[in-house]
Amino acid sequence: MSEVEDLYQEMILEHAKRPRNFGPLDGHSHHAVGRNALCGDHLKVYLILDGDLVKDIHFEGDGCAVSKSSASLMTEALLGKTVAEADALFAKFHAVVTGQPDASADGLGKLAVFSGMSKFPVRVKCATLSWRTVQAALHQKSDPVSTE
Ligand code: ZN
Repeated sequence: MSEVEDLYQEMILEHAKRPRNFGPLDGHSHHAVGRNALCGDHLKVYLILDGDLVKDIHFEGDGCAVSKSSASLMTEALLGKTVAEADALFAKFHAVVTGQPDASADGLGKLAVFSGMSKFPVRVKCATLSWRTVQAALHQKSDPVSTE
């Protein structure tokens, strides 16, 4: 393993052991549940939106080191972002972890630690689970459906 890969591995394990923004979030405006049956990862994401700004974001659940550290690093990355910025960041992250030929880890910051995942297709689902869950939380209709 290269020095960079070593460093990435270390950060993934550190976040898996000590996840940031972990636990329920009182007064959340959005939430969703995500499951990766293939690996057994399950998590719940909570958000507080102020307009279209992510004012707070938490997650809880359990799973492999990749899914937990990805969720932890994602909460750090999305805090203070707009919904549009969150969508754009996920698109970039997804392109990198799935190994799209024109993908670049530039601008991903710490999320670049998952750039090696494209070599492990099974792990891609673990790395993207929390992001898919946030997408579901942000883009579900939050107003109660009226039948009148
Ligand atoms: Zn997993």
